[in-house]
Amino acid sequence: MAAPDSLTRVTAEIVNCCRCPRLVAWREQVGRERRAAFCDEDYWARPVPGLGDPQATLMVVGLAPAAHGGNRTGRVFTGDRSGDWLFGALWRAGYANQPRSVHRDDGLELSGCYVTAAVRCAPPANRPTPDERDACSPFLGREMRLLDRLKVVIVLGQFAYDAACRLVGAPRPRPRFGHLVEVPARLDSRALTIICSYHPSQQNTFTGKLTEAMFDAAFARAKALGG
Ligand code: SF4
Repeated sequence: MAAPDSLTRVTAEIVNCCRCPRLVAWREQVGRERRAAFCDEDYWARPVPGLGDPQATLMVVGLAPAAHGGNRTGRVFTGDRSGDWLFGALWRAGYANQPRSVHRDDGLELSGCYVTAAVRCAPPANRPTPDERDACSPFLGREMRLLDRLKVVIVLGQFAYDAACRLVGAPRPRPRFGHLVEVPARLDSRALTIICSYHPSQQNTFTGKLTEAMFDAAFARAKALGG
């Protein structure tokens, strides 16, 4: 009989995955060429697994690792500006023991929360193709099922929203993506709530489209829903 699935097993499969040739080539190219500021570092240059508490009631889903963030450090949202925003918000909301995440061994611990992404390899121009999203989505589905206390999923941006909705039973027509839009969903026999949030990319945070107060409101709402 096959061994039961586990987060450890999903993680091991993710970090060894080579299913998308374009993304494999890009993640390795970025790791070879490196950014000047990080030229002394060894880039991870592999798929980046999820991170967090197996007892999580809240899951946060991003788009994909940043070329010089997660693809460099090997930990999701770690080492880039989006991560500074995300882990700052998680810390303020009581889900993280520290407000920053700079490298894999910095002591970060998440409590009640699991952070992951729709696609696990850094894509050129931050744009995975629909085929790449679909190739990677079984990993996200397995993580959702393995977090058996999961109540709330915060999706960061339209891409993560689309990826999550494809894995759960969501209303049709699907509510239009917008900040703090809530979508009731079902995963097998479990009820979940999807909360949409603008992605904390610099494109949104530098322009004021997403403020710290707006971002904090998404996590406060997740808590109120049991996430
Ligand atoms: S994006 Fe996902 S499916 Fe594609 S190679 Fe990376 S880990 Fe594998």
